[in-house]
Amino acid sequence: MSAVDGWGSANRYALEIAAGHVQSRAIRQRGNVIMKLDLASTAFLAQLASLGAPGFHEMEPEEARLAGGQIAESYPPGPDMASVRDETITGSDGAGFRVRVLSPTETPRAALIFYHGGGWVLGDIDQYDTLGRQLAKRTGAAVILVDYRKAPENRYPAAAHDAYDALTWVDANITSIAGKRVPIIVAGDSAGGNLAAVVAQRAKAENGPDISLQLLVYPVTDGAMNTPGYANPDNQLLLNTPLMEWFWDHYAPNKKDREEPGASPARAKDLSGLPPALVVTAEYDVLRDEAEAYGEAMQAAGVPVTIKRFDRQMHNFFAMPGLLPAAATALEYVGQQIDRHLATSSEVDAVIVGAGFAGMYQLHKLRQQGLSTRVIERADDVGGTWYWNRYPGARVDIESMAYSFSFDEELEQEWTWKEKYSPQPEILEYAQHVADRFDLRRDITFETSVTRALYNEDTARWNVYTDSGEVISAQYLIMATGCLSAIKTPDIPGADTFKGETYITGLWPHEGVDFSGKKVAVIGTGSSAIQAIPHIAEQADQLTVHQRTPAYSMPAFNRPLEETEIQQMKTTYRDYREAQRNHLAGIPYPERNLMPAAAEGDNERKARLETAWESGILTALTSSYMDVLSNQDANDLVSEFVRDKIRARVKDPETAETLAPKTYPLGTKRPCLDTNYYETYNRDNVRLVDLHKTPIQEITPTGVRTTSGEDSYDAIVFATGFDAMTGALERIDIRGINDMALKDKWADGPHTYLGLSVAGFPNLFTITGPSSPSVLSNMIVSIEQHVDWISDCIAWMRDNGHTTIAATEKAETEWAIHNEQAANLTLFPQANSWYIGANVPGKPRTFMAYIGGVDVYRHICDSIASDNYQGFETA
Ligand code: FAD
Ligand code: NAP
Repeated sequence: MSAVDGWGSANRYALEIAAGHVQSRAIRQRGNVIMKLDLASTAFLAQLASLGAPGFHEMEPEEARLAGGQIAESYPPGPDMASVRDETITGSDGAGFRVRVLSPTETPRAALIFYHGGGWVLGDIDQYDTLGRQLAKRTGAAVILVDYRKAPENRYPAAAHDAYDALTWVDANITSIAGKRVPIIVAGDSAGGNLAAVVAQRAKAENGPDISLQLLVYPVTDGAMNTPGYANPDNQLLLNTPLMEWFWDHYAPNKKDREEPGASPARAKDLSGLPPALVVTAEYDVLRDEAEAYGEAMQAAGVPVTIKRFDRQMHNFFAMPGLLPAAATALEYVGQQIDRHLATSSEVDAVIVGAGFAGMYQLHKLRQQGLSTRVIERADDVGGTWYWNRYPGARVDIESMAYSFSFDEELEQEWTWKEKYSPQPEILEYAQHVADRFDLRRDITFETSVTRALYNEDTARWNVYTDSGEVISAQYLIMATGCLSAIKTPDIPGADTFKGETYITGLWPHEGVDFSGKKVAVIGTGSSAIQAIPHIAEQADQLTVHQRTPAYSMPAFNRPLEETEIQQMKTTYRDYREAQRNHLAGIPYPERNLMPAAAEGDNERKARLETAWESGILTALTSSYMDVLSNQDANDLVSEFVRDKIRARVKDPETAETLAPKTYPLGTKRPCLDTNYYETYNRDNVRLVDLHKTPIQEITPTGVRTTSGEDSYDAIVFATGFDAMTGALERIDIRGINDMALKDKWADGPHTYLGLSVAGFPNLFTITGPSSPSVLSNMIVSIEQHVDWISDCIAWMRDNGHTTIAATEKAETEWAIHNEQAANLTLFPQANSWYIGANVPGKPRTFMAYIGGVDVYRHICDSIASDNYQGFETA
């Protein structure tokens, strides 16, 4: 059956239920409720109903256990563990019970004791084996499943005693379970959540083992059964009031017992001082209200509590791994919360900010060197640029086989790029593959931003603050925040008043955008716009492009890669990588012609430039003569060649002239590669607005007003770029010695030594920071060079007993002078580019990348390192 068939049949089930066709007392009258569940849960309930089985409470306990066991048989096996060990514990009252210790493949970072659900009557650790393994794999904790004694054979407080005895056993055996003392988490679902809550209260009351976190998944908290859910049949899917009564009657038939906190933790008089809690609930669960009420009561008593309700879910969804997609979503959520929680209590050697290619490789390197390292990333996955920029047509403009990591030969060989210039989804997939291959995610905290980083001179450590409220102490702080990651919010009056759809290329919706039948405006004509415009034009009813400065773009001639060229590159990769490292821009081919442009006659030059053009390589034109980027006349020759190409590609001469750049030298703003960009202006549904002639006055609720009038649009796409190089760093409040703010220090432009270190900010490193070659190169080449250098520096510090390192003011000043001199030897400062900060109003104008070349720069960095880190101060 195809996925679509599956979807269709599930949908039919849902419809049948809604129409009351499925013969089940429990479900027939509540079709409207089931329709509120997600489709997988609806289908599951429908299947269950079609079996026509009686409710558990209409069975004998033994019979109900068998029926429950049958559902568990359909769970897939859990992931492999480093070890699985069953042990029998003798409890404090002399009775024995089993525990299962599931050890993840890495050294456990916590011990998570899980009490299974089943109303204290049903369930066992075999039925929870899959979930236990999944929890162990996702959280990196050793999971201890507890087979506490069940009712009615063993009534209250037997299960609660066993649960507590399991805690003391884990505490006493923690080093054999985890190799060292690690935080203990008590967890459970439903009646198991009840036991976890009870155990946490008893540990507090008896000054028992330290519990780091309570994970309470729709816990039973009060035997009074008087929260609104009990009176509302809509909430009673899979678990209803009669079944809860049946459970309580078996577990604590004596109503007085149910008033004790040992059975009903919500009855405890004082909840203060309990461990932090994560309370997970389901929208359509009879236990939802009492679970959330307990969470809120703990919160009111000052306990840090997170309550997470999963919408469109029913009771028990968490414990049905493999059956319900929501179980996987919830597991991931719980995993992230546990990541966060464990992190709160940890000090690390290094914090890395950002999980793009830079942060990922830096994490891998520091781990290899034995440093405890955490990465903080705003997105919910790795990839950086390639996570955020999902606009149509987004792709790399440096050949994919060259724009890839070189640090691991096996990675290089196992990954096969499909196109000469791979599209964003493929590059993101590559980043995800790298994360999987090197198991990076377990040290990355996602959906979290670093907001402040304060250097503490007394401890010589950084305190790194996140928007989730954590403060992480680290010896090293490594910024992998990206040169092009801080979106430049549209700086056009009225931009926030537009009532139609607005999109920003660098924050593109993950689900994609359908422009069919719409009138669309694009603002900007940089690399992002040039890639997106041909795709938007194909979909939209009408497209109007608003151009302030035209770009120089050449065709990419993108195509699928052929097997032979892939193999050829894979065979010679080592030589190629060496050539990359020793090239000006990390793009060794076509080789730079060392002849000045004037040295060749018109025909030879035309032929040379044609060959460069046909290569579809970003640097081919600027490499065609040695002086294209340093001599205006040479540049004019090549620029005019490109303008002629634009004139040939665009049918309307006026549009072609508007698109042909004339106000700055070719190459001094980032050149672009395109696929059918200029040809797009030959379409009837595409119009170009020249903002130099008719500037935008404002964005109105319905459209864009230029000096020639207002046009209305359904959607506006802002392809207006980034606060490049410094934006992501300055958006964090970074303070070094004497509370000096980086932003203040950089008020007149960024000052760094090598783009790696900043005077007054010890142990702060910036990967591809300002004044390094960074954006003037194949970025992965520059990222690898920086990460290797930083990692070597840290290793050297450790070997030589240094705690801190920072650039000296003198070295920083000298590097700034050298940078400026180098830039002034070229035509680059002439353009109003983002390289120089000209795209952000009010930004100081300094050339922010080192222009001397990746090869020269590498040599400088290596010499400084081998000269005992000349220009740096250590302590
Ligand atoms: P990024 O990939 O930008 O990653 C930085 C990460 O840091 C982001 O995920 C961000 O969410 C996170 N972050 C930032 N601040 C914080 C914070 N305060 N808290 C938590 N997380 C934070 N380069 C090339 O060489 N060739 C190309 O073809 C190319 N194409 C590009 C196309 C586009 C659309 C863009 C925007 C850039 C392109 N670049 C290209 C440059 C690209 O940015 C680099 O190649 C590379 O991906 C940068 O990796 P990175 O890890 O340094 O930074
Ligand atoms: P960009 O190059 O800065 O382009 C932004 C565009 O928006 C420019 O045309 C700019 O005009 C225009 N703009 C900005 N503010 C405006 C305003 N207020 N009114 C009108 N127009 C305005 O940004 P980008 O296109 O996102 O590219 C940024 C960099 O990312 C690239 O240079 C490149 O390094 C990288 N990138 C690479 C690729 C690739 O092909 N692999 C794709 C996308 C991005 P002005 O020029 O007049 O300021």
